[in-house]
Amino acid sequence: GGRLTIREIRKDYGEHTAIKRLDLEVRAGEFLSLLGPSGCGKTTLLRMIAGFEEPTSGAIELDGEDIAMLPPYKRPVNTVFQSYALFPHMSVAENVAYGLKRAKVAKKDIGPRVSEALRLVRMEGFAERRPDMLSGGQRQRAALARALVNRPRVLLLDEPMSALDRKLREEMQLELIRLHTDIGLTFVFVTHDQEEALAMSDRIVVMNDGVVQQIGEAEEIYQAP
Ligand code: ADP
Ligand code: ADP
Repeated sequence: GGRLTIREIRKDYGEHTAIKRLDLEVRAGEFLSLLGPSGCGKTTLLRMIAGFEEPTSGAIELDGEDIAMLPPYKRPVNTVFQSYALFPHMSVAENVAYGLKRAKVAKKDIGPRVSEALRLVRMEGFAERRPDMLSGGQRQRAALARALVNRPRVLLLDEPMSALDRKLREEMQLELIRLHTDIGLTFVFVTHDQEEALAMSDRIVVMNDGVVQQIGEAEEIYQAP
């Protein structure tokens, strides 16, 4: 996994400052959660790392290289969104392969790469299914495969479980922990759910109103009520 360095980043939307002045180092291969209430700037930070949003000022480096000038599809970073964002008229395999088209991967490599990604999320048996024939958890795993197929150095997860019911959410937590352990990719995981962050992360960044309030391992963050 890649090491992500965020230097003095700031984001204004007109008069409103969403991110005030934020420094953060995400270690190579760690599972880092961004935790905080709605509106504190988690998604804005994630979108700037992904390249969907331009910082007002500051720098973002991946393994020491400035990625701020790269368009989203050229960044070695991929995102799993809240909603699955799967194309309904395409099979799982076609959905996953779609992620490779822009990257100009050789045709002969597409099949093996898609199989590899589906294997990582244990969805090999569902390659030919349409999304409407999958459960919520399977759809989210297909979306994960699509994000992994480009072999990103950092995976960004924007509340990926919020559309799932409690039972599926717990399954998905375990699935993500297993996946992270298996592939050693750097994960940046956005959530407003403290329990979820505590259960899954190596470290937690607590955000509030556009700033980092606290950062540390679960034991350091957790305060018994
Ligand atoms: P979170 O993900 O923690 O819920 P966001 O990053 O979505 O927070 O939002 C941070 C703040 O920036 C909020 O006050 C939100 O209303 C504001 N904001 C987010 N996106 C935009 C936008 N495109 N235009 C204006 N304000 C925005
Ligand atoms: P979340 O809280 O899950 O990040 P939101 O529902 O706040 O999502 O925002 C959804 C979309 O609307 C995002 O693209 C965000 O950038 C945009 N947005 C959020 N707040 C504002 C705002 N105050 N003005 C304009 N766009 C906004």
